[in-house]
Amino acid sequence: MDVEQHVSGEGAAEQPILVTRSSMPPLQEYVAEIAPLWESHWLTNMGRKHREFSQMLEQRLEVENVCLFTNGHNALECILEALEVEGEVITTPFTFASTTHAIVRKGLVPVFADIRPDDFTIDPASVEALITPRTCAILPVHVYGGLCDLDALDDIARRHSLKLVYDAAHAFGVRRAGVSAAAFGDASMFSFHATKVFNTIEGGAVCFRDPSLEQKLDQWKNFGITGAESVEYVGGNAKMNEFCAAMGICNLRHFDEEIAKRKLVSERYRRNLEGVGGLRLPPFPADVEPNYAYMPVVFEDAFGATRDEVYEALRARGVNPRKYFYPLVSDYACYRDRYSSAATPVAQWVAARVLTLPMYADLSLEDVDRICAIVRACGNADDADGRGADRR
Ligand SMILES: *Cc1c(COP(=O)(O)O)cnc(C)c1O
Repeated sequence: MDVEQHVSGEGAAEQPILVTRSSMPPLQEYVAEIAPLWESHWLTNMGRKHREFSQMLEQRLEVENVCLFTNGHNALECILEALEVEGEVITTPFTFASTTHAIVRKGLVPVFADIRPDDFTIDPASVEALITPRTCAILPVHVYGGLCDLDALDDIARRHSLKLVYDAAHAFGVRRAGVSAAAFGDASMFSFHATKVFNTIEGGAVCFRDPSLEQKLDQWKNFGITGAESVEYVGGNAKMNEFCAAMGICNLRHFDEEIAKRKLVSERYRRNLEGVGGLRLPPFPADVEPNYAYMPVVFEDAFGATRDEVYEALRARGVNPRKYFYPLVSDYACYRDRYSSAATPVAQWVAARVLTLPMYADLSLEDVDRICAIVRACGNADDADGRGADRR
């Protein structure tokens, strides 16, 4: 596979392209936002910025109840605790370590269901087949910002009286038929990590349906302290500080512009890659308002090069994609003794073939063209123009 030969016009001194680049507001805007902290000297513990940002999020995500956290992972652990679930949690192995770790760290047992081959989200039929008397909850992931089969999962959860908690770390701003992704299930966790589509440097939130959970979540993230002289829960410390909340306030003002720019990047990728034989792109259902969080591509055998070959070819040219999610969680050293990824063959198949290409608001369209040229050049020789014979 001689990639060099097919790609023209690049100098050796190109800047490396990373898989993502954190969104940041204009510096002056952030400085103005944090300036009042020098007056108040109130830096954390649910201060003004925390309150303001929390209210902005309730509006933006169109939900009644939002609780802010240091990060998405702590938010997830906390909501599992607050829901008082016990036993087995059906989840997906095609995710980031956090999803499964949260289950295990809360003393629960993860049970891995398989995923759907088209959008990589948990397969409701596989979930249903794994339900036992010990099952207490379902924890699906809106992978790459693509929404799960919300209706089927809701139906299963209701029929079996299970809690339904979404890992919505990727799905900030996504809506289906005008309804916010934050509004489904008993709760949804969002991550505002620097690498996510919306960031507070580090941060996260949980949106929840039952308003009676609010007090418990607030107390849990502050050591279980319930009053000046009373501590009722063995809580942790997971409070979002004022500087992170201020970053959230600023970034939220620019979120729509960011999404508009990401849309152009996504469209450029699709123009370059759609119809290339053996190359599968994520679906964009007509009723979903996407956030273009990631640019996953699946390399089927018909493509003519493996995912790892494409990965190496891109790296050799200064482009850094990610094998995201590879390996499957069930193949991690800390889990593989207890699980077999052969039990989730679709997830295993996708994990071996998927690559997430660079995607961020300021990625130039010329760079997208360059990345796609490298990818296409890896494929079958007769597909050098990017229009394969077996296009679907
Ligand atoms: C980022 C991420 C998390 C964890 O979020 P943090 O804010 O980094 O703790 C959880 N699940 C998924 C799928 C993620 O991508």
